[in-house]
Amino acid sequence: MKHLAPAYYGAFTCLADRCRDNCCIGWEIGIDPDTAAFYDSFPGETGDWLRSGITPPGTDRCFLPDAGGRCRFLNEKNLCTAYLRVGEQAMAEICREHPRFHNWYADVLETGLGLCCEETARLILTTPGPFTLTGLPDCPDEAEEPDPFLTVLRTVRKMVFRFLEDPALPLAERLRRLTGLGWTLQHHLADPAGLPALCRETLAKPAALSPLTEADGRELLTAARELERLSDEWEALLTLGESTPSAFLSPSAGPEEEAELSRIGVYLIYRYFLPLALDGDLCSPLCFPEAALRLIRGLWQRGGAVQPTERQRIAQLFSKEIEYSEENREEFCQAALSWCARQSRPHQEV
Ligand code: SF4
Repeated sequence: MKHLAPAYYGAFTCLADRCRDNCCIGWEIGIDPDTAAFYDSFPGETGDWLRSGITPPGTDRCFLPDAGGRCRFLNEKNLCTAYLRVGEQAMAEICREHPRFHNWYADVLETGLGLCCEETARLILTTPGPFTLTGLPDCPDEAEEPDPFLTVLRTVRKMVFRFLEDPALPLAERLRRLTGLGWTLQHHLADPAGLPALCRETLAKPAALSPLTEADGRELLTAARELERLSDEWEALLTLGESTPSAFLSPSAGPEEEAELSRIGVYLIYRYFLPLALDGDLCSPLCFPEAALRLIRGLWQRGGAVQPTERQRIAQLFSKEIEYSEENREEFCQAALSWCARQSRPHQEV
């Protein structure tokens, strides 16, 4: 089976001890069954040492954090002592894979880099477009014939990539049209063959949505505030945003910021559009970017994120707090859907 990844994939190397935000700190890191079995059966004093750093059999298997929330195997240089002492076999699947993600389709495996990591946030925000996929060594899984719906969705996705990246329209307008596209395609799911033409036509004209108001900005922030929060830094940013909900509706940003935001949008589409659309949900993966990018852009503004590294940090925090918590992501997507639905009422009645 073919194996594809974004062109920037090969440029990723974990920053390890140079990372300001090590991903082995502040999370509950789950252990897959094979690695748990390896730890459970490792002999001798080293086995006892390995087991002292994880939860016991019969419980949810994960690495135990110390009082500061650091994985107990992390040394003072932020390097993994389980790896240093035992080797790669002591690394759980998540430790080997993070921050990569994989989406399997009938004929292709698509891999990507998640936005939650300091280095990938830099790569995603700064790699100039157009977004392209490059071949990795083939995946051993056998390829199947893609069904026609998958082929149609790929055509739609390609159009969305190009549309999001094209600076001919202000980003705010591109996002409005994308949200409108989600509703339109969802209502025409019964005619899959017609979706590419409908996509082209919908993106070419202003969205039939009500204009955004300050109440919409407040609602977006409230949706983010109601989710479980992991870090004080994120909490502080959301608090800053409260005083000016209109920041979340900014009509436009500078060209550099708009390009960065559109690359985050492309990342979200690459990661979520096909898996959700194949299950019949075209609306939420096309509405999610507008809600996410308006939130990130508003927090850039309120947080005074002038430097690219500050903007990358806020995008990474968004990903860690909302995208990488399944519960938070689902709730935020639901909120984004009803947020967009309220502005789409005139369209729905068509
Ligand atoms: S956040 Fe990224 S760069 Fe930092 S330690 Fe984790 S994988 Fe490495």
